[in-house]
Amino acid sequence: MSWETVMGLEVHLQLATASKIFSGAANKFGADPNSQACAVDLGMPGMLPVLNEQAVRYAVMFGLGIDARIGKRSIFDRKNYFYPDLPKGYQVSQFFEPIVCEGVFQVPLSDGSLFPIRITRAHLEEDAGKSVHDRFPGQTGVDLNRAGTPLLEIVTEPDFRTAEQAVAYLKALHSLVTYLGISDGNMAEGSMRCDINLSLRPTGSDSYGTRTEIKNVNSFRFVEKAIAAETARQQELLEDGVSIVQETRLYDADRDETRSMRSKEVANDYRYFPEPDLLPIVLTDDYIDSVRQALPELPAAKRERFIAQYQLSDYDAALLVSSPDMAAYFEKAVTLCDEPKAIANWMLGDLSAALNKEGIPVSQSPVEPQNLAGLVARITDGTLSSKLGKQVFEALWQGEGSADQIIEARGLRQVSDTGALEKLVADVMSENQDQVAQYRAADSSKQKKLIGFFVGQIMKASKGQANPQLINKILTEALDSD
Ligand code: ADP
Ligand code: MG
Repeated sequence: MSWETVMGLEVHLQLATASKIFSGAANKFGADPNSQACAVDLGMPGMLPVLNEQAVRYAVMFGLGIDARIGKRSIFDRKNYFYPDLPKGYQVSQFFEPIVCEGVFQVPLSDGSLFPIRITRAHLEEDAGKSVHDRFPGQTGVDLNRAGTPLLEIVTEPDFRTAEQAVAYLKALHSLVTYLGISDGNMAEGSMRCDINLSLRPTGSDSYGTRTEIKNVNSFRFVEKAIAAETARQQELLEDGVSIVQETRLYDADRDETRSMRSKEVANDYRYFPEPDLLPIVLTDDYIDSVRQALPELPAAKRERFIAQYQLSDYDAALLVSSPDMAAYFEKAVTLCDEPKAIANWMLGDLSAALNKEGIPVSQSPVEPQNLAGLVARITDGTLSSKLGKQVFEALWQGEGSADQIIEARGLRQVSDTGALEKLVADVMSENQDQVAQYRAADSSKQKKLIGFFVGQIMKASKGQANPQLINKILTEALDSD
């Protein structure tokens, strides 16, 4: 029997507002414990929340970014539960009427195609504090810096079937929110946390199985591994005739397995009711329009434009628009050297490899767009072979100046002068008389191999500077004559 995996994702996104969602305390990562929580965040008696307008704007920007319906009247609700990191005894969230309603998000897959994911809703809420288990032996500390951090919880329909789709969605989401500038999307710091709801069903079935929810997975790689581990676990149970318990689970990366946290039955009575201390959020069409007008060009539109304007493949365009900095780098380089395909190749090849190796973002690349444009210009005009281009790239990375300066300083100019090349060919032929004779007696497949040999010798003699196209031409003519 074969099984199909069904998944819906819930993402908690920290919004990059200056202050918290209902108080004036700073909303920054990494401050000393409890230095960033004011009386409102601590839930002191008599404190009243004041809604942060920027958090509302960010939520609307997100809704418009995924073409969702905006809830023109949304309300806040109290979600009641008891936990040491929640001083008020309830979390303010939006349960009954969220600010962002249904929408469809087009997710680019690695083959360049688009995969539509239905978004159920996205709502505003405040984050809780954090329990600290590793600081005081035998005791647990509570850090309330995070209490009141504005979150947008984004919920999808159960539309995912593979880990690849789930990861592609998360990457596209990450890209969208960084374009919008509403979150830094930093998964390692918890700015983007993902819950995976997962169930199995027999392939071909159209009803859903019982699901489990894997909480707070915090990297793309762990999302992939958690899905694999939980799918395997459920499949084994189902094949043994054991039914799945609906529960919350944790992914343990060290053991590469998921583990039960709590079962849903006990955890689920939140006694939601409307928050009496906050008014409904009422949005006018004018307001929504003004937010729409101010949106930057988003990844999907930029991708379409890159394909049309620069004749890039779907694949290259998707990679180049994945971050706003990458896209800006590309366009800057192309205005200086009108060779989009070559610029894209260098960026997605050598440049990305070097950035990954050093673990730095493109905004900190030691090779700036004008340097890369200068390099590509010298390859296009024949001054450099692509092999010499790689040497120049290395030198650019080391900060040895512009491409032209490096070519001068290192004497890297490609030799395209026919006279000089003819002499090189003649020299190598006379040093390798045997191979010349073999070539002239050989069939065409053997001849190809020998050409490779001669070209290798000539490139060596020219220290890599002979123009390979011209060499090929001169060499075959010389070998085929006589
Ligand atoms: P809850 O109220 O318990 O949070 P929801 O109905 O809101 O449950 O669903 C939460 C998430 O679980 C959504 O992303 C949804 O797509 C997903 N989901 C619901 N049912 C299933 C299922 N049978 N298998 C996988 N995912 C599911
Ligand atoms: Mg939920």
